[in-house]
Amino acid sequence: MSFKDLKIIKPLLKAIEASGYSEPTLVQQRAIPPVLEGRDVIVSAQTGTGKTAAFALPILQQLFDKQDAPKRGKKIRALVISPTRELAVQIQQNFKNYAQFSNLRSLVVFGGTSIEPQIDVLKKGVDILVATPGRLLDLHKQDYINLDHIETLVLDEADLMLAMGFIDDVKKIERLCPEEKQTLLFSATIPYKIEELAKTILKDPERIDVTPTKSVAQDVSQVLYYVPKRRKIELCLHLLRNEIKGNVLIFRRTKFGVNKLEQRLAENGYKVDSIHGDKNQSDRQTALNKFKNGYVKVLIATDVAARGIDINKLDNVFNFDMPNQAETYVHRIGRTGRAGNIGKAYSMCSADEKSYVKTIEQYINVQIPIETEHPYPLDPKAKPIVHKKKGSKYKKGRKSVASKKKKKRWY
Ligand code: AMP
Repeated sequence: MSFKDLKIIKPLLKAIEASGYSEPTLVQQRAIPPVLEGRDVIVSAQTGTGKTAAFALPILQQLFDKQDAPKRGKKIRALVISPTRELAVQIQQNFKNYAQFSNLRSLVVFGGTSIEPQIDVLKKGVDILVATPGRLLDLHKQDYINLDHIETLVLDEADLMLAMGFIDDVKKIERLCPEEKQTLLFSATIPYKIEELAKTILKDPERIDVTPTKSVAQDVSQVLYYVPKRRKIELCLHLLRNEIKGNVLIFRRTKFGVNKLEQRLAENGYKVDSIHGDKNQSDRQTALNKFKNGYVKVLIATDVAARGIDINKLDNVFNFDMPNQAETYVHRIGRTGRAGNIGKAYSMCSADEKSYVKTIEQYINVQIPIETEHPYPLDPKAKPIVHKKKGSKYKKGRKSVASKKKKKRWY
């Protein structure tokens, strides 16, 4: 099947050709026709499947015939909500790229950066707005955004929006848009709460499922190291020195862990950077750019911060902490080995993480090959280290409601 078969119009075909795509991906083949027909869709697809173009192309096509003069009096007619800033930036870059042979304008707005430049562009008028929920509501409250003319609303990475606590904001945004509109919901997984949300805001949606079979991409070779928790950093350094070739994305569960590892690797002379929820937008983007353009070879991230980020050439993924969800393992390692490159996925498992490995292996239906030849083997009889709760020395309920609200996110 070609993009022409999907009835994509010429200006978009030209942009697709310029991007070097020869044929539509599976999610594009299945989602573009119903979206062009104006139907609501629920798509389960992960990043890396080409899902952004699966909604961006038909949205642009629907707007193309109705486009206004280059700048004057534009109204926002398509709205894409994205949970993270990086993802929002990426989505808008896609729109900008595919719209290069049209008058259609897009803008991305997100928190953590100055609001004024975003207001300036909004005043000039845009057709498509990509936004994170908080900043969108903020701008709407200040009357810089009018959602009365929205024809298509996209909720991207809906499951992540749920995980990050944005679901009420999303519902609020949906209610601010006209009732008569097309709604497209994209999510890597469809948990119960997303199903419920879909029931309330989508009309007779077409369901499209392109989640890869649970099996992990064929072109990722996996290897597992059993290691005591306290020796993980040494093993990590050993592997960086002796095994790992090319760039590596290291996953840790918490931002505290990310910072600690970053410090140790830097002390050992590695050019390293990191992304997690506590870093501001510009630092996160800088870190990502440095990694993408090869200035740093090691990037350390939490799952949530790294979710959805598209890194074209990623040689290795390193699970410093084993993920406690099998899906997360598949997500993480699916980032390497793309586009015909062979990727490598290293995992380190300590005594307390053994049960995670079992669950992962059942889920992917593969036994991950174990490497025993390394300097820090785990005693097979080793018991997980149990941290006894000492209890707080302060009285319960000591914190005020206000300070509890300020509780920092862990991701
Ligand atoms: P996404 O899942 O939208 O994050 O896309 C993942 C990557 O696939 C991006 O780098 C896109 O530029 C690329 N891509 C999207 N559509 C196609 C296509 N039809 N052929 C080849 N690559 C594509």
